[in-house]
Formats: sequence, structure tokens, C-alpha cells
Amino acid sequence: YTRLVALVGRPNVGKSSLFNRIIRERKSLVHDEPGVTRDRIFGRAEHNGEAFYLCDTGGFEPTSKDNIKIQLVEQAEMAIEEAETVIFVVDGREGLHPVDSDLIRRLRKSEKNFVVCVNKCDLPKDDIFIEEFRKLGVPNVYPVSAEHNRGVSDLLDAATEIF
Ligand code: GDP
Ligand code: MG
Repeated sequence: YTRLVALVGRPNVGKSSLFNRIIRERKSLVHDEPGVTRDRIFGRAEHNGEAFYLCDTGGFEPTSKDNIKIQLVEQAEMAIEEAETVIFVVDGREGLHPVDSDLIRRLRKSEKNFVVCVNKCDLPKDDIFIEEFRKLGVPNVYPVSAEHNRGVSDLLDAATEIF
């Protein structure tokens, strides 16, 4: 769908915090679509006067490590198929996780427009893992703090650039 931006990433990296941050500040309706769609939540947001839809994924309860990976890959593939842009969210406190590298590789292969959001970079001193993610050959890597509203605007500039 045009103008659909999907948030994808491992559990606990801060996707829902980022979703709420973006939606709250650009106040709009949110509606739940549980069941078939695997608990995705959609919201309508605006950035630089451009309206778009934001999709939060991963409302699942992971039952095992293997399950996290399987569910995450499924959600990423769904996002690749349906969204115009993917915001891949990682945990800036943990650094590069093997599942992240794998998902980023898939995103690159898909040729989908995507940006990497390194979340939980609450202060500039937390930006230590940014280079590690750039080394994966991803040009669009942004330090963000969903909690402190740091870097969110730059991230959205990049994510909505193609609209
Ligand atoms: P999700 O599972 O990816 O949707 O992650 P959540 O949004 O539920 O957040 C998981 C945890 O990370 C929560 O305890 C949040 O408070 C915390 N968190 C989210 N964003 C940030 C951030 O920018 N900085 C810090 N320090 N913690 C965050
Ligand atoms: Mg969540």
C-alpha cells in the first residue's frame, strides 16, 4: 500500500513506544486489527505535512527463541510485501543481534525502501553501536530515543522521503 510505513523488529526494542510517540505527537486515530493480521495496529500520522499510515507489529507472545525468529521473519516478509517503507527497529543498548543481521540482509535483498532505527539512544553518548549497523551496508541508520523523542524527526524525514 502506498504511504504505509511498517515498524518491524525483535520484541522489546521499542517499536510500540516509537509508534505511540509518532502517533501521539501527530494525533490521529489508531485501530486494532487482531486475529488474521497477527495483532498489527495501524495509525494515521503526518510528517512535514505528508499523511501516512504507520503499522506496529509484534503484539505476539513469544514462546521460545525459535518462535521469535519465525514470527519476526513472517512479520518482516509481510511488511516487505505490503508497506512502502519499513522502519527496522533495533536496540541501541544491546548492539547488533544475529537476528537483526539476518533481517537486515533480507530487507536489502528485497530492495524495499527501509531505514534502521537504533532505539534507546537516549543521549549522544549512547550512539556507540551506530557504526556497527552502518557496517552492514545500510546507509540509513538513525540514533533514536522513542522515550525522549530524540532523532524521531530525522528518522521520519528518511522514512517518508520517497513519498
Ligand atoms: P516493543 O516490544 O518493540 O514494542 O517494545 P516496547 O515499546 O514495548 O518497549 C520495550 C521496553 O523498552 C519498555 O520497557 C520501554 O520502556 C523501553 N524503551 C522503549 N523505547 C525506549 C527508549 O527510547 N529509551 C529507553 N531507555 N527505553 C526505551
Ligand atoms: Mg510492541
